[in-house]
Amino acid sequence: MKNKKFSKKNNHYIFYRLNRFYLVLFTLLVVACNTPRQKEGSIKKYKVPCYAWSSGPGSATDEELKANFMNLKTKGIDVLLYNGGQNYDTYKRVGKIAKAEGLGFHAWIPTMKQNLQEELNPEWYAVNRKGESAYDKPAYVSNYHFLCPSLPGVKDYLIDMYSKIADLKEVDGIHLDYIRFPDVILAPGLWEKYGLVMDKEYPSYDYCYCDTCTSNFKAQSGIDITDVKDPSQVQEWKQFRYNLITNIVSILTDVAHRRGKQINAAVFPGPNSIAKKIVRQEWDKWSIDAFFPMNYNDFYLEDAKWIGTVTKEAVTAIKNNKPVISGLFICPDPAKKATETDPEYHGLLPEELEEAIRESMQNGAAGICLFTPDRMTEEHWKVFENAIYKKY
Ligand SMILES: [Zn+2]
Repeated sequence: MKNKKFSKKNNHYIFYRLNRFYLVLFTLLVVACNTPRQKEGSIKKYKVPCYAWSSGPGSATDEELKANFMNLKTKGIDVLLYNGGQNYDTYKRVGKIAKAEGLGFHAWIPTMKQNLQEELNPEWYAVNRKGESAYDKPAYVSNYHFLCPSLPGVKDYLIDMYSKIADLKEVDGIHLDYIRFPDVILAPGLWEKYGLVMDKEYPSYDYCYCDTCTSNFKAQSGIDITDVKDPSQVQEWKQFRYNLITNIVSILTDVAHRRGKQINAAVFPGPNSIAKKIVRQEWDKWSIDAFFPMNYNDFYLEDAKWIGTVTKEAVTAIKNNKPVISGLFICPDPAKKATETDPEYHGLLPEELEEAIRESMQNGAAGICLFTPDRMTEEHWKVFENAIYKKY
């Protein structure tokens, strides 16, 4: 009797112990899933998707590329947007190495801005309101050679060039850049560098007034834009040019998608607050797979908090239908930022990077993109490592 009683009690005890065991095991699993830092062999935990704009390869050997990519992967980069010019062999070679290291690989190739080359007819370049061609009289800098988006020859050239890259099995997708007109208004952080005050649209920076653009616009709207005193006040003329860029994007989206490849683009922040106004990108109308707004706060004389504001605008504008990856401009030499006059060397300091990532993610970004990993200092990487293993 005594024994029986004991045995029953003991059974209860074992049952109790087992329950405790599963409760503890469950608790441990929950804790493991929420642990911020992933330890080797542990359960996979959340990480901010990280992209990087990178270019090369210069004279780097395969071994050097492999070591560089392995390092970036270890530091948390998932996908490279890689500029290797327009050389197919470069993308084949570098893409193969990047993919072997577990990185996604997109070919980052400028669209409307093209170096002078044999395949490009001098007459295909955009013309400003003064009648000057971006072929021999480019705006701002000597290599600002933009093409006209109306011309069939330009479209054929772009289709051919991107098709050959999208055909490569080493390439996951096409990353468009300079998919726009030249800056009709320069970002305010650049005014001093170029000695300009861009309070309105000036003829030297306003494109494209080639015969094809102006006559197509007249046929469509009835307006002879060359007769208008202030074309910046004609909404139809603005919309006509937004549509020209959107049309090029549609054509290239088709090129990528028909080959089963992704297509995405570096865009100006906005689209409404900045991109449409200064580079005529109405990118909320584009049917690409992801958007990479260049939320480069220093170019707009803004702080890291502003990155959250423009990220929210972007996500809202595209109704959160596609990923918005927040582009972050990194300061390569933090100690010199205060005295550096060239804004190209400004950018996020290590102490601003966490806020930039948090603001991006809390306002709906699907990831962040570094411009560029080479500009990251040891201090930046330390902050980065802590910031990317958090769920915002
Ligand atoms: Zn034109």
